[in-house]
Amino acid sequence: MSVVQRLCILGSTGSIGVSTLDVVARHPDRLSVYALSAHSRIESLAAQAAAHDARVVIVPDDAARQRFLAAWPDRRPVPEIRQGAQALADTAADPEVTAVMAAIVGAAGLPGALAAARAGKRVLLANKEALVAAGSLFMQAVREAGAELLPIDSEHNAIFQCLPQSADRARAPSQPAPGVRRLLLTASGGPFRCTALDELEHVTPEQACAHPNWRMGRKISVDSATMLNKGLEVIEAHWLFAMPLERIQVVIHPQSVVHSMVEYTDGSILAQLGQPDMRTPIAFGLGYPDRIDSGVGLLELTRLGRLDFEPPDLRRFPCLRLSLDALKQGQGACITLNAANEVAVDGFLHGRIRYTQIPAIIERCLGDSARFGVQTPSSLDEVLYLDAHTRRLATSYCQAALG
Ligand code: NAD
Ligand code: MG
Repeated sequence: MSVVQRLCILGSTGSIGVSTLDVVARHPDRLSVYALSAHSRIESLAAQAAAHDARVVIVPDDAARQRFLAAWPDRRPVPEIRQGAQALADTAADPEVTAVMAAIVGAAGLPGALAAARAGKRVLLANKEALVAAGSLFMQAVREAGAELLPIDSEHNAIFQCLPQSADRARAPSQPAPGVRRLLLTASGGPFRCTALDELEHVTPEQACAHPNWRMGRKISVDSATMLNKGLEVIEAHWLFAMPLERIQVVIHPQSVVHSMVEYTDGSILAQLGQPDMRTPIAFGLGYPDRIDSGVGLLELTRLGRLDFEPPDLRRFPCLRLSLDALKQGQGACITLNAANEVAVDGFLHGRIRYTQIPAIIERCLGDSARFGVQTPSSLDEVLYLDAHTRRLATSYCQAALG
C-alpha cells in the first residue's frame, strides 16, 4: 500500500520547486501539499498555493505578506502565512509534514534542511550547499533522528539508484557500501566546454546561463559553467555515500544522459540513464521505494546514437580544482568555498565582476581561511558565522575587482 506524503516544499517557486509540483499534481492519491515557500516570486507562490490547496505558505517579510494577500484569488480561504527565516525551519519540522523538499538555493537553505533532518522527516535534498557547508552535522542529524535522506541532485540520485539495495540506504551510511570501488560522477562540461580559453574573460551572464542540456536556476547554471557545481557535487557525494575523495572520479559526458555510475570491485559499472529532466529524480524521491510516473518521456537510445566521455581539464575549470582542494582542507574550507562562490556568482550575474574573476575571488578567500587556520565548525551557529564572515570578505574582494 502506498504511503500518503504531506509535503513541505522549501523554494517552491524555483526550478526544482516547480518540477516537484508538476510531479505532485500527477499523484493526488499519494502526494499532498502542506506548505510552500518563496523568497521573491510571491505572485507565483500565491498561484501555486491556490492550485495545490496549500495549508501554509512562508514568505520572507511583511512586504511579501502584503503582496501575497494582494495576489490571492478572491473568496478562497487564505492559507496560514508564516514569515521569516525561522519559519522555514519550524515548518520543515512541523508535525503535519512527512516529507520536505529542500529546494532553496544556496546556504540559505541549510537551516530548513537541517531542521527537517533533525525532526526525522523524509528529506528530499536538492540543496547541495547544505551538505557542502555542514556535511558532518547534517549526516549526524539524519542518523540520530532516523530521518530518510533521498538525494535529488541527478548525479547523486543516479548513484543512489546504482548502489546495492540495502535497508539503510536512505539512513546516512557511515561507511562506503560493500563491493563499491569508485563513484563516477558525470558532468556535461556546461556551455564553455569548447570555448577558446582567452574568450572566457568576456562571456556574459546570458551565455553562462545557457546550459546545453538542463533548464535550471541562474546560480546553479553559472556553477555548471565554471564546474564549481561539480566540485560541490564531489563534496556532496563524499558526505552522502561516506566515500573518500580519491574514490570519486569526475567524468565529462556532454550528452547528460548517463547521470552517474557506480564502479564495483568485480569490474562491473552500473549506470542510471534518462532524459535530462529533474522530474525523474524528484519522482524517485517522492515515491521511494515505489516507482511512480514523473511525466518524463522515454529515452530513445537509437536516436541518441552515441555517448561520449572525457576527463575534465582543470585549467579550463579552476573552480573544480579549488573545490577538490577545499574538501582536502576540511569543513571550514568547504564553507568558505561555497560562501565565496555565492557572492562571486551574484557579482557576475549583476555585472559587477567578470566570469574569470569568480575563481580568483574564491581562491583569495580560501587562501585567507588557510592562513587563519579555520577550525571545523561543530554547530549550525558556527557554520553560519563562518559563512557570514566569508561573505563580507568576498564582497570586499568583488568591490576591489570592480575598482
Ligand atoms: P532557483 O533559483 O530556480 O530557485 C530557488 C528557490 O529558493 C526559489 O523558490 C527562491 O524563492 C528560494 N530562495 C532563494 N533565496 C532564498 C533565501 N535567501 N531564503 C529563502 N528562500 C530563498 O534554484 P533551483 O535551480 O531550483 O535550485 C534549487 C537548489 O537545488 C539549489 O541548491 C541547486 O543547486 C539544487 N539543484 C537544482 C537543480 C536544477 O535542475 N535546477 C539540479 C540539481 C540540484
Ligand atoms: Mg547535479
